[in-house]
Amino acid sequence: MNNKDIATPSRTKEILQKHGFSFKKSLGQNFLTDPNILQRIVETAEIDETTNVIEVGPGIGALTEHLARTAHQVLAFEIDDRLIPVLADTLSPYSNVKIVHQDVLKADLSAETAYFDQVGPLKVVANLPYYITTPIMMYFLESKLNVDEMIVMMQREVADRISAKPGTKAYGSLTIAVQYYMQATTAFIVPKTVFIPQPNVDSAILRLVRRETPAVAVSNEKEFFRLTKAAFALRRKTLWNNLLHSYGKDEATRSWLETSLQQAEIDPRRRGETLSLEEFGRLSNQLEQNKKTREV
Ligand code: SAM
Repeated sequence: MNNKDIATPSRTKEILQKHGFSFKKSLGQNFLTDPNILQRIVETAEIDETTNVIEVGPGIGALTEHLARTAHQVLAFEIDDRLIPVLADTLSPYSNVKIVHQDVLKADLSAETAYFDQVGPLKVVANLPYYITTPIMMYFLESKLNVDEMIVMMQREVADRISAKPGTKAYGSLTIAVQYYMQATTAFIVPKTVFIPQPNVDSAILRLVRRETPAVAVSNEKEFFRLTKAAFALRRKTLWNNLLHSYGKDEATRSWLETSLQQAEIDPRRRGETLSLEEFGRLSNQLEQNKKTREV
């Protein structure tokens, strides 16, 4: 740790005072003030001088600084115009950082990543604004960028949902949406006491590593995700009731669902949260295959 680190509580206070900055809760602004935790994030991300990093929401640059010291280059998107002059000040010692003043969800990622002047592993590392954690994650997972890894901080409860195993309460359509593309593990827990202002709940660092191919081979991705959403729509109902609720209760639909479940060897009395990704894949493929015989 370096005494001049942006993230020390005293330096953070000094920076906020110098620029007369006040936090905007609506932008999910909770700044990290613990250089040891920032260092652990960088270590978890296994960043070295070949790594290109995208950061979302640099704030006053606490994490950005640690990334800049280790990575090849850092591209950071910050929505709050008041932070742009602050970042120009705090990050002035680092020549391998580009700050883009924009809502990351509206950014043209492929154009912006032209900033990276050499090819290397691409990682998203961020202390995410909690109000849009899921949209940001899905945006990167579904983008054409092929992000290799994401090491992201979020509310502990959301991290638990994403890394959940079948049969647990936390397992749901978000688990599947992420684990379809990435292997997910919770790296470590971050107590709420190391942020200013303090959030109400603890946070967790989630590590997502892209799978070489999606977790299951499905013939129609859109329908696969529709099925997983349908299976969890009514939490305490059986898979059968959830499927009728989402796809329809008429005879043709019933028979299509029944046949497909039978062929996929999945008991309709089970609950959605007990099905593994592989089972969802199998059922989705049977539903697709039998679609042509469905008279609706
Ligand atoms: N990285 C800093 C840290 O760890 O101390 C700040 C993290 S703070 C939880 C989230 C940051 O994301 C804030 O700086 C906020 O202004 C920014 N932010 C919120 N919504 C954003 C969006 N849609 N696009 C880019 N940045 C956003």
